Amino acid sequence: MYDWLIVGAGFAGSVLAERLASQRNERVLLVDRRPHVGGNAHDYYNDDGILIHQYGPHIFHTNSKQIFDYLSSFTKWRPYSHRVLAEVDGMLVPIPINLDTVNQLYGLDLNSEQLADWFSARAEKVDSICTSEDVVVSVVGRELYEKFFQGYTRKQWGLDPSKLDKSVTARVPVRTDRNDLYFSDEYQFMPRHGYHRLFENMLRSSNIHVMTQTDYRDVKDRIPHRRVIYTGPIDEYFEFCFGRLPYRSLQFEHVTRDVPWHQPVAVVNYPQTKDYTRVTEYKHLTGQSHPKTTLSYEYPSDVGDPYYPVPNAENQERFKKYECLAMNTPDVWFVGRLATYRYYNMDQVVGQALSTFRRICNTVETGS
Ligand code: FAD
Ligand code: UDP
Repeated sequence: MYDWLIVGAGFAGSVLAERLASQRNERVLLVDRRPHVGGNAHDYYNDDGILIHQYGPHIFHTNSKQIFDYLSSFTKWRPYSHRVLAEVDGMLVPIPINLDTVNQLYGLDLNSEQLADWFSARAEKVDSICTSEDVVVSVVGRELYEKFFQGYTRKQWGLDPSKLDKSVTARVPVRTDRNDLYFSDEYQFMPRHGYHRLFENMLRSSNIHVMTQTDYRDVKDRIPHRRVIYTGPIDEYFEFCFGRLPYRSLQFEHVTRDVPWHQPVAVVNYPQTKDYTRVTEYKHLTGQSHPKTTLSYEYPSDVGDPYYPVPNAENQERFKKYECLAMNTPDVWFVGRLATYRYYNMDQVVGQALSTFRRICNTVETGS
C-alpha cells in the first residue's frame, strides 16, 4: 500500500514526491507515461554527446530565494544570463525591445529619455488593457507590435494576439535602456550537470518508487494507494466531461551540425519569416565544449503533447468548471501547469508544489 500515487514526474510531481518521502516518511509511487522523469524539463546527451533539452530550451529563473535554495539541495548551478535576438527586417536585434533594438532597426542614435518619448509618440491609447495586442500597442505602438509580436504569436498559438489574454505577451518586457537580458529575475541559472541529474537527486529516497512508461489509467485500480497527486491535463482526468481544454503543442526538430557554433546567442526568434518560431543552440545554455553543435527548431502545432495552456477568457471559464470538480474530489490534489491550466514557469510550479505540500501537512494534521 502506497501512501501516495503521484501522476507525472515533472517538477510538480517530483517536488511533492521528494517532500512527502523526506519530510513525512511516506511511501510514494511516482508514475509517468513518458520513458523518463523530468517532464518537459527533461534533458539528455544525444548521439553526438551534446546535452540537449528534448522539449525545447529550459532556463531556470526566479525571484524567490526560497525556491532557489530548495532546488540548490539537488544541483549545483552554472550562472547563465539569457539573451535572445529576433530576426526582424533582415537584421538580428535584441528582444525584449530595448534602446539598441530601436536604434539598430531605424538607424537612430536615441538615448533612453528620447526613446521614452519616441514610444509615447507611437503608443496607442487603449481604455482597458485586456488582450495580448493591447498590452504591446499601448506601449510601443502598432509598427513594432506587428514586427515583433503579431506574427510570432499567430505562429506560436494559432491565434491573433487580440484573442489571447494580456498575460501572454506581457511576459516579454519593453525597456528604454540597453539591458538585453530576456528575464528580469534575480536568480538566473542552469543546473550545472543538467536537469536529469537534478531530478535523479530529487528522487533518490528509498521511499520513492518511480515507474516510467506507465499511465495513471493502467495503475489506478491495480496498485493500492491512499491518496493521489495528479499533474497531467485536468480535462483528461475528468474524461473531458466539459469538453476539451485547448493546449498548444510543438514539434521539435533537433539538428546537429559539424561546426562549433551556429548563432551568436542561445535563442534566435523568427517573428516575420519561417514556419518555426525560434532556434535554440544548446551549448550556449549548458557551457559544454564540443566540436559540433545541436540546434532545435520549434514548430507550433495543435496536435501532440500538451505543452501550453491557452490563456483566454473562454478557456478559463471551462477550466473553472473542471476546477470546481477537482475541489470536490476527495483525496486527490491537482498541481502543475497542466492540472491547474496555468502558463507557469518552472519556478512557479516548484512554488505551487511547495505550497501544496504545506496544505497537505495542514490537512492531515487538522484532519480537515
Ligand atoms: P510537466 O513537466 O508537463 O510534467 C507533467 C508530466 O505528467 C509529464 O511528464 C507527463 O508525461 C505526465 N503525465 C500526464 N498525464 C499522465 C498520465 N495520465 N499518466 C502518467 N503520466 C502522465 N519554464 C521556465 O522556467 N524556463 C524556461 O525557459 C521554460 N521554457 C519552456 C519551453 C517550452 C518549449 C515549454 C513547453 C515549457 C517551458 N517552460 C519553461 C515551462 C516548464 O516546462 C514548466 O513550467 C514545467 O516543466 C511544468 O512542470 P509540471 O510538472 O507542471 O508539468
Ligand atoms: N512573443 C512574441 N515575439 C517574441 C517573443 C515572444 O510575440 O519574439 C510572445 C509570444 O506570444 C510568446 C509570448 O510572447 O508566446 C511569451 O514569450 P516567451 O518567450 O515567454 O514564451 P515561452 O518561452 O514560454 O514559449
